[in-house]
Amino acid sequence: MPPLTTLTDDERLFRDSVYEFADREIRPLVRDMDEHAKLAPALIDKLFALGVMGIEIPDSYGGGGATFFHSVLAVEALSRVDPSIGVMVDVQNTLVINALLRWGNEEIKSRYLPKMASSLIGGYALSEAGSGSDAFALTTRARECDGEWRLTGRKLWITNGNEAGLFIVFANIDPEAGYRGITAFLVERGFAGFSVGKKEDKLGIRASSTCELLFEDCRVPKANVLGEVGKGYKVAIETLNEGRIGIGAQMVGLAQGALDAAIHYTKERKQFGKAIADFQGVQFQIARAATDVEAARLMVYNAARLRDAGAPFLKEAAMCKIFSSEVAERVSSLAVNLFGGYGFVKDYPVEKFFRDAKIGQIYEGTSNLQLQTIAKQLLG
Ligand SMILES: Cc1cc2nc3c(=O)[nH]c(=O)nc-3n(C[C@H](O)[C@H](O)[C@H](O)COP(=O)(O)OP(=O)(O)OC[C@H]3O[C@@H](n4cnc5c(N)ncnc54)[C@H](O)[C@@H]3O)c2cc1C
Repeated sequence: MPPLTTLTDDERLFRDSVYEFADREIRPLVRDMDEHAKLAPALIDKLFALGVMGIEIPDSYGGGGATFFHSVLAVEALSRVDPSIGVMVDVQNTLVINALLRWGNEEIKSRYLPKMASSLIGGYALSEAGSGSDAFALTTRARECDGEWRLTGRKLWITNGNEAGLFIVFANIDPEAGYRGITAFLVERGFAGFSVGKKEDKLGIRASSTCELLFEDCRVPKANVLGEVGKGYKVAIETLNEGRIGIGAQMVGLAQGALDAAIHYTKERKQFGKAIADFQGVQFQIARAATDVEAARLMVYNAARLRDAGAPFLKEAAMCKIFSSEVAERVSSLAVNLFGGYGFVKDYPVEKFFRDAKIGQIYEGTSNLQLQTIAKQLLG
């Protein structure tokens, strides 16, 4: 067996090409996108051209025909430069495309996958104002009317809300049936009765749009049910179980970006007549941070490789997400400290990494919910 972090030639070339792209095309835009809380529109076409918007879509539909592990590598490489771009690519691949591949029938796949590989961005709409951790308490309703579905309700916090043309929307067709009424619908941005509401003004990942979605008797064709009617809870749970490995990758990339910046800066910055990296106190802090990042990466890669191998990965996915997000917070906080006063201002990248890190402990299941999943696996 090769070591866990040893990449195949194909994986290495792919990862390096994404990182080079991030360095060349994204890095110069990071500060401006953060300040204006807006993704540079030109980046979107370039991300499609790079091939990171349809990584697992089979060649026959125009995608990359690669693995979930490749998606993890892409999210990590992008997040090393900008975790906002990392999450856009993550939602596209590990949630939306993943769900379409797994639950879509042939008609749905041939209708949407070629577009998703070339120009269409996806969003994943589960959360509502009153239902976050308790996701299946959602109150968006779907009723049958004149041979189609009509959706009414509001979704909150939806990543890619500003850019997406297609949303997987979870709504309940029969509240009496509880979670067994939940159904996944594919809603196009242009469907009558659909609109995008308020965009959130956030602490971190500010270039990633997070929006409210409104459904006012929104008309959805019968053919746009993803999976079976009443089985949307399965679509949601199983997709999120995998998606959280992608958030682990986002957090590993973020932590690596903060660590790289800290190493570079401490070798340059002089105090007491020498580089601050020459002080053993600083060296030990950097060594500990690098150890944390290595451990988090091993956990993320292991969970992703288990998933690709068809082996159980639920516990490992939850563990990698909680651990990586804590590492991202610790390492980015240390990076701010090591930059001193310069760490606290926007001229340097570390204060942004510190702000961006916080989201890892919140979305795709808060840390408490990850602990609940791990405990359930351990204790039955
Ligand atoms: C930037 C951003 C992007 C997002 N993107 C998306 C998206 O694309 N699609 C989507 O559907 N959602 C998205 N979300 C929503 C996100 O998944 C939820 O915010 C998250 O699941 C937490 O739900 P909540 O905010 O309602 O918090 P709550 O569920 O109200 O949790 C509040 C606190 O209570 C704790 N808690 C709750 N229940 C328990 C329990 N049983 N035991 C112990 N502690 C508990 C939580 O851990 C947390 O600390 C996004 C959120 C943000 C901020």
